[in-house]
Amino acid sequence: MDFQLNEQETLVRDMAREFAQKELLPRATKHDREETIDPEVFPMLAELGLMGMTIPEEYGGAGMGNAELAIALEELNAACASTGVTVSVHNSLLGSPITKWGTEEQKQTWLPRLASGELIGSYCLTEPNAGSDAAAVATSAVLAPDGSGDWIINGTKIWVTNGGWAGLFLVYVRTNTEASNAKGMSAILVPADTPGLTVGKKEHKTGIRGSSTTEILFENVRVSGAHLLGEVDKGFMIAMDTLDGGRIGIASQAVGIGRACLESSIKYAGEREQFGRPIGAFQAVQFKIADMATRIDAARLLVQRAAWMRDRGERCSLQAAQAKVAASTAANFAADECLQIHGGAGYTDDFHVERLFRDARITEIYEGATDIQKIVISRNLMG
Ligand SMILES: Cc1cc2nc3c(=O)[nH]c(=O)nc-3n(C[C@H](O)[C@H](O)[C@H](O)COP(=O)(O)OP(=O)(O)OC[C@H]3O[C@@H](n4cnc5c(N)ncnc54)[C@H](O)[C@@H]3O)c2cc1C
Repeated sequence: MDFQLNEQETLVRDMAREFAQKELLPRATKHDREETIDPEVFPMLAELGLMGMTIPEEYGGAGMGNAELAIALEELNAACASTGVTVSVHNSLLGSPITKWGTEEQKQTWLPRLASGELIGSYCLTEPNAGSDAAAVATSAVLAPDGSGDWIINGTKIWVTNGGWAGLFLVYVRTNTEASNAKGMSAILVPADTPGLTVGKKEHKTGIRGSSTTEILFENVRVSGAHLLGEVDKGFMIAMDTLDGGRIGIASQAVGIGRACLESSIKYAGEREQFGRPIGAFQAVQFKIADMATRIDAARLLVQRAAWMRDRGERCSLQAAQAKVAASTAANFAADECLQIHGGAGYTDDFHVERLFRDARITEIYEGATDIQKIVISRNLMG
């Protein structure tokens, strides 16, 4: 067992940290207020290899694993969680499944364009009546009656991260109405410029306000049969396997937000004086910092374990769910304590604290809410 980062992981951490602190942190408030990400950020991310972390080098990616992706995501999210989730979804919910399930033609067509940042990726599972119950997807894909093998897609997806700027959507559709819910779904790659695909309502959110979250509408959207990812009616399995990786990404996001809260708290507790001494001299404040640090470190170790298992090709649904529960609850705990330590100053936007508090909240909701993770954990343990 080795708890030290290896040489490559150390390089990734240092590179991502330097970029995040220099380029993202100064933009984080702007991203939050303007509800978008500065467009020049995407080429910079691509230049550093951060848009193709797990894409093999032969397809233009960095050829790394989930461990390196998790390390990079912690750094990006410690600076700007809006950018962090954009990168997480792009890598783990689109680059990774095409790498794992794609045909050679699909890999050659899409992976270099995702790795270069030419196309941003998006994952469309959720619908108005299919949230936690993801197998209840109603968006339909039927074979064209002309025998061409094309699919015709109709339906509405909601809360699609990167929806406003994605060039490629991985869309989960119902292809079999006879089979049980989970057994009648397929995954189809749909380019954003396909006629009939439109970007609908943009959400105005509590946190991660810079990230794009939209409805995506499909009206007689026609794509060739070559756009099917994996086998027909096996899409639910792809969706769930992909989410194992995605949850490691969101857990990394939570660790990054939690760490930013911890660092901000330590700094402020050393500077702010009351009763003639820094507030960090009071044991009540010291204990808050001790609890934050312990929970965040524990969460990071669970993230690294899940990533390590996934990189070895082992199933890690249990470990990814545990990492997500631990990290998202740690982040929200840390954000709450951080705001408390900052007192009134933390409740204004003079500091990053109120943004961290808002950004942390989503980590307990998306890619499976906390109670859904607990269902995954208990099912894995109890059958
Ligand atoms: C900002 C944002 C970005 C998102 N990005 C994407 C994206 O890119 N792609 C995508 O497909 N989706 C995305 N989502 C959707 C997200 O994954 C869902 O919101 C999430 O899975 C929860 O679904 P829901 O919101 O419908 O909540 P519901 O399913 O309505 O759940 C509401 C509450 O009920 C609880 N609950 C539900 N069922 C059970 C149960 N069986 N046992 C116990 N408790 C239960 C839940 O834990 C939750 O607390 C995003 C959502 C948000 C808010």
